[in-house]
Amino acid sequence: MATDLSKLITETKKQLEHLRELGVDGIQIRVSTEKPEPVVTQTSAPSSLFGELTPAPAKLEPSTETFEQIHQEIGDCTRCPLHQERTHVVHTEGNRKARLMFVGEAPGADEDAQARPFVGRAGQLLTKIIEAIGMKREEVLIGNVNRCRPPGNRPPMPDEVAACKPYLLREIAIVQPEVIVVLGNTATKNLLDTREGITRIRGTFQDYKGIKVMPTFHPAYLLRDPSKKRETWEDLKKVRDCLDKT
Ligand code: URA
Repeated sequence: MATDLSKLITETKKQLEHLRELGVDGIQIRVSTEKPEPVVTQTSAPSSLFGELTPAPAKLEPSTETFEQIHQEIGDCTRCPLHQERTHVVHTEGNRKARLMFVGEAPGADEDAQARPFVGRAGQLLTKIIEAIGMKREEVLIGNVNRCRPPGNRPPMPDEVAACKPYLLREIAIVQPEVIVVLGNTATKNLLDTREGITRIRGTFQDYKGIKVMPTFHPAYLLRDPSKKRETWEDLKKVRDCLDKT
């Protein structure tokens, strides 16, 4: 009995660890003591059916700003606690007329040291991924939701995301890429303002104000689990096909 229980605990721990690796950062256990809400059945047409129309999805307004203006405004930023331990603010870099953009979570140690996004081991893998779809790194735009390295590479906190993300969105409005590939669970949730995890929505085009967004695994995760490269390749082929069509 005792050994069965300890086996069960070990197995459960392994399962949870596996789910965490896949980007699942919480599971819900619902023990409800409340009575379920009664089901209300609609017997007549909703009053909004012919009256109010569903609002059109928000589209990205064209921008007349420049990257230089935005970077100047960011300056030697102290708007969130991440400034305390960073060396450099890491701005979005690459082709400002890009059709394709890659968005990560936040700089790591190499990026913080060099003031450039995705230049460490994960960045080198990202460069190979870009080349695998027949493009050059210089052709695309590469940035992060957060521009300062979180201590120990922890995920940025909601207030840190709120302080930094608007600058990325303003850059996206300038460039208006046709497709954004968002890398990993944290960047996906933060860019798209969604609670959906990467394992659920990767490989399916999402929408950011009329721009197609493809969530896929983060290259740092692929370095830890190379078996996930196959799925990433499937996702990137969809991106390539989408760009080839237009
Ligand atoms: N990981 C990220 O999310 N961004 C980088 O720039 C580097 C590693």
